[in-house]
Amino acid sequence: MTSLNGKTALVTGSTSGIGLGIAQVLAQAGANIVLNGFGDSDAALAAIRATGTEVIHHAADMRNSKEIEAMFAVVHERFGAVDVLVNNAGIQHVSPIETFDAQKWDDIIAINLSSGFHTTRLALPGMRTRNWGRIINIASVHGLVGSAGKSAYVAAKHGLVGLTKVTALETALTAVTCNAICPGFVLTPLVQQQIDDLAARERLSPDDARARLLGEKQPSGRFVTPEELGNLALMLCSPQAAEVRGATWVADGGWTAQ
Ligand code: NAD
Repeated sequence: MTSLNGKTALVTGSTSGIGLGIAQVLAQAGANIVLNGFGDSDAALAAIRATGTEVIHHAADMRNSKEIEAMFAVVHERFGAVDVLVNNAGIQHVSPIETFDAQKWDDIIAINLSSGFHTTRLALPGMRTRNWGRIINIASVHGLVGSAGKSAYVAAKHGLVGLTKVTALETALTAVTCNAICPGFVLTPLVQQQIDDLAARERLSPDDARARLLGEKQPSGRFVTPEELGNLALMLCSPQAAEVRGATWVADGGWTAQ
């Protein structure tokens, strides 16, 4: 198993869902963890502490570049470096373009796309100095294909895939790599909201709404899990992945194979 002993991993948006799942796998591999995100962080902190590594939580709002800079200052003070950066924070809003709330558009672009630029620009100098680093952008199948009603999300995720490629090119002569993971549906609060909305709109039971959502897009008929995505992230941290650069790795139950 890949060891991340002595390394520090910052996972944005890791108080729940995919981010927490990735943080847990990286912690099990020995990395110190910086959690970020809103809501109650106690359970997430306890889950990471149980692995025996060091962990802190910083609640920087990913819409705000000054707060992101402040988070990096705290991390540098405490751990000296960010070796593994996982840009995971993200939100969703579903609506046709004509009625799409303009503030929601700005928030989605800021959290799902621009925060990845700010964290990358702040993490890269230290990674270059140590000549090792892993930047893993949690994009989505929506970084590769579209879905009606998700204009801001699809635009942001396509942008994040673009940022991934440019970061990979600008670090190609170093031992710093940057790649994107593109999940299909994962059962987290972000997707539960879409299931609840579908159930209310179509008068479906929770089980039927879940099956309908998956059935429309994901041929496997099952959700991808945060743990599976954590293990993919760990694989990208391994020495064997040293020349995986600018990749968009799907874990989508066959969604984009159609
Ligand atoms: P989630 O709602 O469970 O978690 C989102 C995390 O981001 C939480 O920790 C939340 O506190 C944090 N967050 C939200 N706004 C923030 C802000 N302004 N500043 C800092 N943190 C903020 O969602 P999730 O499903 O685990 O999604 C995580 C990532 O995976 C997102 O980028 C999402 O687009 C992506 N993704 C999710 C799915 C899915 O099916 N769930 C599929 C593909 C990609």
